[in-house]
Amino acid sequence: MRELLRLTPGEVDLTAWDTRATPGFEGGKAEGRDALAALAPELADLQERLYAEGVAGSSRRVLLVLQGMDTSGKGGVVRHVAGLVDPQGLRVAGFGAPTAEELRHDFLWRIRRALPAPGRIGVFDRSHYEDVLAVKVRGLADPTEVERRYGAINDFEAELVAAGTPVLKCLLLISPDEQRERLLARMDDPTKQWKVAASDLEDRARWSAYREAYEVALRRTDTEVAPWYVVPADRKWYRNLAVATLLRETLAQMAPAWPPAVVDVADLRRRLLDEDPVA
Ligand code: AMP
Ligand code: MG
Repeated sequence: MRELLRLTPGEVDLTAWDTRATPGFEGGKAEGRDALAALAPELADLQERLYAEGVAGSSRRVLLVLQGMDTSGKGGVVRHVAGLVDPQGLRVAGFGAPTAEELRHDFLWRIRRALPAPGRIGVFDRSHYEDVLAVKVRGLADPTEVERRYGAINDFEAELVAAGTPVLKCLLLISPDEQRERLLARMDDPTKQWKVAASDLEDRARWSAYREAYEVALRRTDTEVAPWYVVPADRKWYRNLAVATLLRETLAQMAPAWPPAVVDVADLRRRLLDEDPVA
């Protein structure tokens, strides 16, 4: 699955991706949900090992970057994939329009502040990529500044990877038709109406401009150390399974190991067995 979702370096054509496809998985929804559930114990085990390493002094961590148009399922991945591990091992950060204070700093300032602590898995619901996507499409910065940012992003990610933090970048790809259905469902559900934003329709109206901005961003920031993965996301169950699979493989490659005991466990065990009754 990893190889099939890996962006082909070079020319990037997002129209060539079938957003309803399920690359690398034969079954349907029920099998996909079972497969996700089957991944959960291993994901939780790997996460706990990473956390334990962090407690023992390792500075390794993981960063999962989720990008995609509105309703592409970034929040769903946070709930259904990140939600499979101990919440204490997570740092989830969402990025909306920058505050006045954030705008006074370089675009990576707020991103660095949201990085996970050692041993944690960081999940970004939107990210520094908005600074070459939304910002570019809506014309919120000088073109020369946007141009500078691709290189700044590559340097930033290379720095993370060199410091032992793999950066797993996933573009959740939905079709405009699927987004229409999801926005309608959102508008028709009183429990979801609080999420409806006028910007959803504004961004939707600029669909092809966003697609082009994504294509440029992917082409320029798909690096050997921090490659992009394109996840067909019209089927929610496949989207979850795919991101969980990529995250599992990322963690497995790190091979986090249980740290040795920091105390003489055998001695403590003996003392526990020999102790006088506790009142
Ligand atoms: P949501 O993810 O639905 O909460 O929406 C967040 C909104 O903030 C989206 O419309 C993003 O495009 C926008 N956003 C995120 N980061 C930036 C940024 N750096 N500059 C401008 N808009 C942004
Ligand atoms: Mg939104």
